[in-house]
Amino acid sequence: MSDRYLADYVLPLDDDFSIHAPGFVDVADGRVTAVGGAENAPPRPEVRVHRLDGVLMPGLVNGHAHSAMTVLRGAGEGLPLDRWLTEVIWPREARMTPDDARAGMVVGAAEMLLGGVTTTNEMYFFADAVAEGARAVGIRSIVCAAIIEAPGVERFGTPEQVIAESLALRDRHAGEDLVEVGLGPHSAYTLGDGALREIGETAVAEGMLLHIHLAETRTEGDAVIERTGKRVPHHLAELGVFAGRASAAHCVWVDDGDIALLDEHGVGVAHCPGSNGKLASGVAPVVAMRRAGLVVGAATDGPASNNDLDLWEEARLALLYARLREGDAAVLGVEDALRMVTSEAAAALGRPDLGALVPGRRADMVRVSLDHVAYDPIETPEDVVSHLVWAGSARDVADVWVGGRQVVAERTVLTVDVAEARRELRTAARRIAG
Ligand SMILES: [Zn+2]
Repeated sequence: MSDRYLADYVLPLDDDFSIHAPGFVDVADGRVTAVGGAENAPPRPEVRVHRLDGVLMPGLVNGHAHSAMTVLRGAGEGLPLDRWLTEVIWPREARMTPDDARAGMVVGAAEMLLGGVTTTNEMYFFADAVAEGARAVGIRSIVCAAIIEAPGVERFGTPEQVIAESLALRDRHAGEDLVEVGLGPHSAYTLGDGALREIGETAVAEGMLLHIHLAETRTEGDAVIERTGKRVPHHLAELGVFAGRASAAHCVWVDDGDIALLDEHGVGVAHCPGSNGKLASGVAPVVAMRRAGLVVGAATDGPASNNDLDLWEEARLALLYARLREGDAAVLGVEDALRMVTSEAAAALGRPDLGALVPGRRADMVRVSLDHVAYDPIETPEDVVSHLVWAGSARDVADVWVGGRQVVAERTVLTVDVAEARRELRTAARRIAG
């Protein structure tokens, strides 16, 4: 049995940036089998037909997040990054348990699904609990255990231990459609050369995604330059960190040489404009990176530094920051913004099965309602695209499917009791705050 979805507008986010008005998407066994203009839909007697108002498009792909940090949302407002970490975040994380992380992930995943995010690339401690929480809610996830060598986080294990745990977690989720397990070396400044080399080798040998923070702040690479005489991307490349499939979050303080090196190694970039703005980290050179050929997706980063998990806002901020940085309103378009939260975000994670509604890809889809007053007027289908970018938000996501399974209907999560999850989260947050 297959399903046919007929919608006022279908935006597949394919290579041609097609807009079908009205359009159809056929789904069978969790994958898209056909898509196009409604007038061209082939007759299929054995199909369940769903008629939808608004826009049907691929689910959004969040390139970098620490969603379990919903338990820390709002903590340390207004502090600079170093004080925010050492005075507020790390002491609270020291009091966290796996159950707290699971509760945080359930609420974060529910928030993302309600906002149309169907895949998230996670980096956090308690990877087991994060994977479990994500799976319970029904969001697609790449779960990367954070690997870090720093005072105060010894209880999460040595890099060798976390690598071993990651491989075991990967084996436990083998063959599962929703959960992929990767490796999450935190950054060049929190890991020694030996650990970085070993993580890079493991990622290549096991075919796992390597997910790292890179060049988030202006000064974080100073110690590496002083010790090795090399800029951080070059140092990491020499250690083999980019030898496999790699995703680098932030990439704010990269120069032309760094960009060329990242491109040469096919590193995917997760651009986090909201977090970079909130913590005053800087404005990433998105236009230069894209021109050089790098694939750049957008991401929310964690809810402790954003503070929400709304990728529509990131799409908008990506445009605003790029245009302001270049002083040119033509450097990045609304189509680019939508690609950066769908097809390009998926490509940046090395996931060609996600991010677009084209035959063969997974049927991760969202319906955006155009009922809100902010979507008027719509004179042409192109108006829908610009309205989605400039006026769109999580508020208007009405229905969500992951792998063809409906997980949100009329703005309600179908998989978990969100009210109960929120109660658990508040209890955990109160205890962790001390
Ligand atoms: Zn981060």
